[in-house]
Amino acid sequence: MAPGGRTCKEILESYSSFGDYDIAANAEIKIASLSIKPTIMSGGKVGMSSTNGVYELLECPVCTSSMYPPIHQCPNGHTLCSNCKVRVQNRCPTCRFELGNIRCLALEKVAESLELQCKYQSLGCHDIFPYYSKLKHEQHCQFRPYNCPYAGSECSVTGDIQELVGHLKDDHKVDMHDGSTFNHRYVKSNPQEVENATWMLTVFKCYGRQFCLHFEAFQMGTAPVYMAFLRFMGDEDEAKKFSYSLEVGANGRKLTWQGVPRSIRDSHRKIRDSQDGLIIQRNLALFFSGTDGKELKLRVTGRIWKEE
Ligand SMILES: [Zn+2]
Ligand SMILES: [Zn+2]
Ligand SMILES: [Zn+2]
Ligand SMILES: [Zn+2]
Repeated sequence: MAPGGRTCKEILESYSSFGDYDIAANAEIKIASLSIKPTIMSGGKVGMSSTNGVYELLECPVCTSSMYPPIHQCPNGHTLCSNCKVRVQNRCPTCRFELGNIRCLALEKVAESLELQCKYQSLGCHDIFPYYSKLKHEQHCQFRPYNCPYAGSECSVTGDIQELVGHLKDDHKVDMHDGSTFNHRYVKSNPQEVENATWMLTVFKCYGRQFCLHFEAFQMGTAPVYMAFLRFMGDEDEAKKFSYSLEVGANGRKLTWQGVPRSIRDSHRKIRDSQDGLIIQRNLALFFSGTDGKELKLRVTGRIWKEE
């Protein structure tokens, strides 16, 4: 038997959170982001708040994400999503009763009749989706936020391009340059260390857009290499409209690369693993450095242009 006091309190809390929704500020945001089929719209304020109640009911009380079939419930009627169900060891997280295997078909049906705005509405998406296909759309919505393009550390910051540019500058202290040509020097003492991948990021602004130039060291199979590549801060469709070239060399030798910038939607690692950039073997890089292997000193020049 669960401790009585605790059970009581949890039930009370779950009721009071439903009672408060019509005055809570976040509930208003949810009303604004919700639309409903005319057939079940009861009109006016009543319709809106009852719809909002349905929306809240479709939120898993344990993990707060939207629930999709099979939606489960305990013998007392508390619902939870299928992900949470496998994690709670057959005990209802709300009342601690044994869960069993009861589906909440009524709620699944109600969800089917709903149409919802994409959750990135505030970022510019105005599409409306049936409840069950909304999630799929949102995974590919062109308005979804971008991940921070900085690599080499775990950074969980997301945002639109302007926010990320500010974040790269302020939080990662990334160098920002204007213009479509560049001439960059990479210097590193102790170039034998490849395991702790050294890498750098510079942001270039041209054609009114931003590009990330990555430079890093890693082990390709057994060979230590350096790699430089460009990423476009935007979607792939637009990235394809640009091209870039990179050059590195010294003493009359030169390596060149011409490519198409990759969208920052593609992870840094994915691009690196596909070798879609200028790759310089370490021996050659050290030869270009002209420092008898003591120091890496590479001059990388490049250009970005727009394909008409
Ligand atoms: Zn859940
Ligand atoms: Zn329960
Ligand atoms: Zn969308
Ligand atoms: Zn970041």
